[in-house]
Formats: sequence, C-alpha cells, structure tokens
Amino acid sequence: MGDVVFWTIMRTAVVIPAMWILRSYINFELWWVICLMSIYGIIIHPTIIHYKLFEEKNKDIIESTLCSSCKHFDKTAVLCMKYDKHPTLESLPCGGVDWEPGFSEVDSDLRQN
Ligand code: SF4
Repeated sequence: MGDVVFWTIMRTAVVIPAMWILRSYINFELWWVICLMSIYGIIIHPTIIHYKLFEEKNKDIIESTLCSSCKHFDKTAVLCMKYDKHPTLESLPCGGVDWEPGFSEVDSDLRQN
C-alpha cells in the first residue's frame, strides 16, 4: 500500500508543476481540459489500477489467513500491527501464538451466545 501512496504523491509532484509551467504556453480553456485529463490519466487512474492490483495480490492473505480475524491485523496495509510485519500465506509473524479475536469475531461470538 505504501507503494501506491508513494507513486501517487510522486506523480502528483510532477504533474502539478508541469501543468503550472504549461499554463503560460497555451490557451486557458485548453489548459483546463489538459489539466483535468492529466490529473485523471496520470494521477487518479494509475492509482486506482495499482490499488486494485494490490487488493488482488493480497486477497488470500486478507481473507483466508489467521491474521484476517485478528484484532492486530490492519487489512488496509496488510500488516500485523503488533509485530509491524507483513504476514504471508506461508508464515505469520507471531506463528499464531498472539492471535486475538478481532471485532467481527467478538461480534459473531456474542451473537451465538
Ligand atoms: S498477532 Fe499474529 S495472528 Fe494477529 S495479526 Fe499479528 S501475526 Fe497475525
């Protein structure tokens, strides 16, 4: 996820000054159109694609590991907050020892009782 945010910031840092410089060379109405197209095409659209790839790549870890039901797991970053490490399908940072039920686990337990 950090890569997605980093490259979005980098693209933004390049596009905004480029648009600012371009402003003095072309017609103002055309500049607005180019600005909007550039912002979408260079910043927003690649970010959406990178985020979808990130989600697809980590789908199994988010949905089907022990971490997915643990309260220490941050799904948005695919990160164990307790160990500050990324779990994989092959290994969990705690080896399952420090698992604690997340809110959804606690809710389902309360509904059953
Ligand atoms: S404490 Fe263990 S089970 Fe919980 S998120 Fe971290 S590695 Fe996964």
